[in-house]
Order: sequence, then structure tokens, then C-alpha cells
Amino acid sequence: MSITREPPNPFRQATFLLSVNHLRQLPPDSGLEVAFAGRSNAGKSSALNLITDNSALARVSKTPGRTQMINYFAVDEALRLVDLPGYGYAKVPEEVKRHWQQILEQYLRTRASLQGLVIVMDCRHPLKEYDRQMLEWCRHRGIKVHVLLTKSDKLSRGAAGNTLQEVRAILKNEFPHATAQLFSSLNGTGAVEARQLIATWLGMESGEQK
Ligand code: GDP
Repeated sequence: MSITREPPNPFRQATFLLSVNHLRQLPPDSGLEVAFAGRSNAGKSSALNLITDNSALARVSKTPGRTQMINYFAVDEALRLVDLPGYGYAKVPEEVKRHWQQILEQYLRTRASLQGLVIVMDCRHPLKEYDRQMLEWCRHRGIKVHVLLTKSDKLSRGAAGNTLQEVRAILKNEFPHATAQLFSSLNGTGAVEARQLIATWLGMESGEQK
């Protein structure tokens, strides 16, 4: 009987760097970074916690939309993960929404060190209006996008597979710079695959720990 081992997690060393709520406070635009975006409550904090194997890294919020900051995590001195503020939460006042819309757009349009954007979507409600907006901004600048269809544990295997095929078909048609996979922070589905892709984007050798 063979024992299958997970590859080492290249993001286990990630540590909190800083939180900002204005672009002028961002760390210097050098090195490489991968950012995470998603509708509030889609499961972005849980996904970041699983990808880094650190259950306390990105706080899993019980009050979506409340903590709106850009959170930076250092993988090493030149590589970073970025937790962008969740969008689409109905109870956030209009002017706060506008503030973050502008910041997200500016960030995606101008950040030179940004290698790719991970968009977290609840697999039961994929490709909502703001998700498409993110995809559009990234397409505009040629930034790679990877969609994590999270909470896949909430669907049967067949239904999850169908959703994945449907989302991939739409992306291929409308946003060919984007890829997608199933993900579950609850049972670990897709964590290895997601880590490998992000590590490749960050130029880490074959996704393995240095
Ligand atoms: P965020 O607002 O996008 O950062 O979402 P959170 O990570 O805070 O998750 C929102 C809610 O969904 C929380 O109650 C999580 O426990 C739950 N959740 C997140 N990911 C999963 C998942 O993969 N499966 C299940 N069943 N629940 C999840």
C-alpha cells in the first residue's frame, strides 16, 4: 500500500506584515505579490487560512464587511500575499462601497508587483456582478486570475463538478486569462492545487519550500 503525502506547504512561513486602508500606505511596489478578492462571506479568510496552514492568519469574520482593510502577509522578504477587502456586502454604506471600489480598481490597474489575482466565489453563487468587474479590470491589464469555487463541500460531487465545468466554459469564452478549481476550507479540497499555482505565480521553485 502506498502512502500519498501532501507536498510541503510553501506558505506556512507567511506572517502578517501590515494593514492599510489607503493605497499610499501600501508597501513598496517591488518584489512579487498575489492578491485575494471576493464577495463578503464567500470564504476568502478561510481560504487564506487553509492555504497558509495558519488558522489565525486572516481572521474569519462573523460580521462580513466590517473589517475593510488591505492586509499584507509576507512569504519572504520579496514575496507577499494580499487580502483585499471583501465586496458586495449589502449593509455597507454606499460611500464606503465607493471608496473600496475605487481602491480596488486603482490597485488592480497600477500595482506593478501584482502577479495574479485569486477570486474566491461561493460555488453556489459564482460570477456575480462584482466578480465580473474584477475579472474585467484584470483582463484589461492582462493580469492572470484564478477562481476558487469554495464551499464545494456544500454540493454533491456531481453538482460541484457541473458547476466547475459551467464556470470554466464561461471563463474560456469571456475571460480567457482566468482559470478555476473547486475548493473547500472545511475538508481541504483543492488546497494543494491552489498553493501550487500561487507558488508558480510568485516564481517559487515548483511550488516547493526553499
Ligand atoms: P470572507 O468574508 O470571504 O472572508 O468569508 P469567511 O472566510 O469569513 O467565511 C464566511 C463563512 O463561511 C464562515 O462562517 C465560514 O466558516 C464559512 N466557510 C468558509 N469557507 C467554507 C467552506 O469551504 N465550507 C463551508 N462549509 N463553510 C465555509
